[in-house]
Amino acid sequence: MNYSNFSKNVLNWYNLNKRDLPWRYKGNSKKDPYKVWVSEIMLQQTTVTAVIPYYNKFIKRWPNIKKLSSTNIEDVLDFWSGLGYYRRARNLHLTAGIINNEFNGVFPNKESEIKNLPGIGEYTSAAIRAIAFNKNDTVVDSNIERIMARVFYLKDPINKIKKKIKEYAKMLTPNRKNGDYIQALMDIGSMICLPKNPLCESCPIIKFCQAKKSSSENIIPIKIKKKIKPIRKGSVYLIISSDNKVLLKRREDNGILPGMLEFPSYGWSKDGSEEIDKKILSIDDFKRKKGSVSHQFSHFNLLLTVYEKKEFNVNDINGMWIDKKDLENLGLPTLMKKVFNHVNI
Ligand code: SF4
Repeated sequence: MNYSNFSKNVLNWYNLNKRDLPWRYKGNSKKDPYKVWVSEIMLQQTTVTAVIPYYNKFIKRWPNIKKLSSTNIEDVLDFWSGLGYYRRARNLHLTAGIINNEFNGVFPNKESEIKNLPGIGEYTSAAIRAIAFNKNDTVVDSNIERIMARVFYLKDPINKIKKKIKEYAKMLTPNRKNGDYIQALMDIGSMICLPKNPLCESCPIIKFCQAKKSSSENIIPIKIKKKIKPIRKGSVYLIISSDNKVLLKRREDNGILPGMLEFPSYGWSKDGSEEIDKKILSIDDFKRKKGSVSHQFSHFNLLLTVYEKKEFNVNDINGMWIDKKDLENLGLPTLMKKVFNHVNI
């Protein structure tokens, strides 16, 4: 098979059909590596639809590296509430500081420099270099992975063919317009070469696709069975003062939901070793709420038993007492929003 027109077909399709995404440059607007980087970090583990409103608000609030590096990490973490994978927010803030201090606020374009920045691995580095600097790095995300597996009819389970996919993707990477090319493949993957029932009749690369020729587009790539996640259990305490304030604390900087706000909780870290203020446990008339709150993390599922105490006379328990009516505007992670809703059903 001659693949010389592969990237040309992809780029022609992109010119007419690309998605209008807020981080994409338009017309003659200058590419801004900062925006590409922010979007790539947000898009790790999160869908385009979920990212768009967060991205727009983020760029409005912190339009450049200087602004982001001079803000408090707590503000970035609170902003991130609901997006999940909070380590990304911490790394964005850390990286902004490094670029500001060590690169004079200018986003580096060397692979060795980009890859050394917190939160940027091989994929993100390649994507930033291709999209923002038009370098011809080979970029393989899950959409491109699926397209390569189908075009080259790779019949082994997807986890066994990562290296092969990268080699094929590299072979097809064009020397020019690589940024547009990889964004085009991502668009084809999410609009046409869908995981189930791909829309092959609209596909600009159908003539190269061996899976389609073998009528196997619905079975390639071969999936790997998902592992069953372990279940962890813990307790969370919603303590409301007599003047309607709720007790919150910030989690440790390490571990799950690092640095995020929470209603005091414990018992659900990996080794169950987290501390809780003994004064909370000594409150003797907590009301245990019926049922529990469940939440999925990437590597375990959580069940939290919720305890509520109303009309509490505030004593010297450590934490922040926040007006109940202000909770909605705080950056509570989704898990804690679920806890609050559970109590208020
Ligand atoms: S022809 Fe179908 S299966 Fe092949 S790349 Fe295009 S959409 Fe995917």
